[in-house]
Amino acid sequence: MSTELNPFKIAQEQLDETAELLGLDEATHELLRWPRRELQVTIPVRMDDGTVKVFHGYRVQYNDARGPTKGGLRWHPEETIDTVRALAAWMTWKTAVVDIPLGGGKGGVTCDPKAMSLAEQERLARGYIRAIHRIIDDKTDVPAPDVYTNPQIMAWMMDEFSIIQGHNVPGIITGKPIPLGGSEGRGDATARGGVYTVREAARILGIDLKGATAAIQGYGNAGQFAHKLGEEILGLKVVAVSDSKGGVYRPEGISFEEGVAWKKKNGTVVDMPNTTNLTNEALLELDVVVLFPAALENVITDANAGNIKAKISAELANGPTTPEADKILHKNGVYVIPDFLCNAGGVTVSYFEQVQNAYGYYWPLELVHKRLDAKMTAAFHAVHKMAQEKGVHNRLAAYLVAVQRVAEACKLRGWV
Ligand code: GLU
Repeated sequence: MSTELNPFKIAQEQLDETAELLGLDEATHELLRWPRRELQVTIPVRMDDGTVKVFHGYRVQYNDARGPTKGGLRWHPEETIDTVRALAAWMTWKTAVVDIPLGGGKGGVTCDPKAMSLAEQERLARGYIRAIHRIIDDKTDVPAPDVYTNPQIMAWMMDEFSIIQGHNVPGIITGKPIPLGGSEGRGDATARGGVYTVREAARILGIDLKGATAAIQGYGNAGQFAHKLGEEILGLKVVAVSDSKGGVYRPEGISFEEGVAWKKKNGTVVDMPNTTNLTNEALLELDVVVLFPAALENVITDANAGNIKAKISAELANGPTTPEADKILHKNGVYVIPDFLCNAGGVTVSYFEQVQNAYGYYWPLELVHKRLDAKMTAAFHAVHKMAQEKGVHNRLAAYLVAVQRVAEACKLRGWV
């Protein structure tokens, strides 16, 4: 991985720029440049064919000045300690920008879950918890789903942790299935929160979203629900979608029902009838009103940022845009809703889930939606206002809002 595209180096670079603008003292800056704690583990798992495979796992607790560290678990073949560190840093800024009383953390396992049976996934999930259980609990560090993990994996992990503790601990993890203490509305929360921020951005920009075109890169949890809610809430016409195998395009629009049905049947959106196949790279450059990068990091770089034609780039993925690309998009007038603001809906409803677990009393769906909307809307306007006041691009504005809050908490605690 080149230094330029190492996500942790990028996260540090983004912080450095923020620290300078905020005039942060050296100690606070240094503290916020690094995780407070990280654990790397090996996880031996017996595979279905009887052999044992050793997986590498990580958990990074980046900063807990504002509350317990919080963040998802990615299971991905390319996972490294540096991607987890970057994602943990971004979680710290994410919980701060939506102003929930949590810090930031992240975890992951280097693996390809698509090539594993359910039984193998369960053994890996349980093995991971046995390997990291000493550094997590419902008051210190609470994992959740992320790329290629899901409610079933959260359920196995919650069960394993509860077995170790000798009693039920639903609050150890969020994104659980509803019968095990999951929250209503957690499933589509990341996309829903992002859609609320697109609604606010369009208001500010004076764009009518009814019938406006959209393209979605990535068709996992966030991408699929962005399709559904983009249609339902915003009235968008989605003309292109893609996944790791490639994408499809149809100028008249692809409906959510059609997209998910084809993906479910074929494992990919590619070759959907009456569409033209296109690459992930070409999808990003389509002339659409709203672009949703909803896959992985570093897809918009200085090499293609100049070709992005969307009016709004709503970053449901973590880290899709490099710092160089940010400058180009800003110069070209692309309104970027930065990742840790745009995709903060997931962790916000995770926080609601934790609150409900702590009380053992559960909220109706409408209340979750209302409270999520209030949080996302307030965060969006705090960032927009900062961008206007300081004349900086939205990501830097989001950093200014978030880092200021985390730095203040570190200072109030007497750490720096
Ligand atoms: N993995 C999600 C994220 O990147 C959710 C984290 C959580 O719910 O704790 O924000």
